[in-house]
Amino acid sequence: MRKDPDEVGRRSSTLAGSVLVLLGILLFVPAGEGKDPVAAKPCQPTRADSEGPFYKPGAPLRTSTGSGLVVRGRLLGDPDCKALPGGRIEWWQTDRRGRYDDEHRGSQNVDSEGGYRFSTDFPGVYPGRPPHIHFKAQAPGYRALTTQLYLRGGEPEVEFDIVLVPER
Ligand code: FE
Repeated sequence: MRKDPDEVGRRSSTLAGSVLVLLGILLFVPAGEGKDPVAAKPCQPTRADSEGPFYKPGAPLRTSTGSGLVVRGRLLGDPDCKALPGGRIEWWQTDRRGRYDDEHRGSQNVDSEGGYRFSTDFPGVYPGRPPHIHFKAQAPGYRALTTQLYLRGGEPEVEFDIVLVPER
């Protein structure tokens, strides 16, 4: 049985169209990513880390628990990096000698642009751990995060954006 030439022609042009669309996707995606990798994935959720044994709820509201180290940044929401002005951050760490105490616990509400800033003592080292600050971050509609900020040692200021994941 012979096929209607028009039918064959329509099929070929549909196939050609599909190939062009596919080519377009293949060419467009890598080009887009190459130009601006940040645009492809603007927010990387902050990795969770262990709470450890020294967390105590109810840290007082304050923006300073010492001096010598400033930590600042913004609280953002995945996937669009929007600021989370309703959020709260709570941190705890050791004193300069590596001992946990109540003087190095604080919590604060982020500002209207999701920004936060606190000053503190540089945490001391205790056996088996690099210098670090524990913190929890939360915002309405987002999964609460518990993690740790690791420090190189001796830096006076650290800028660190915290990215939360939506609840669902
Ligand atoms: Fe610790």
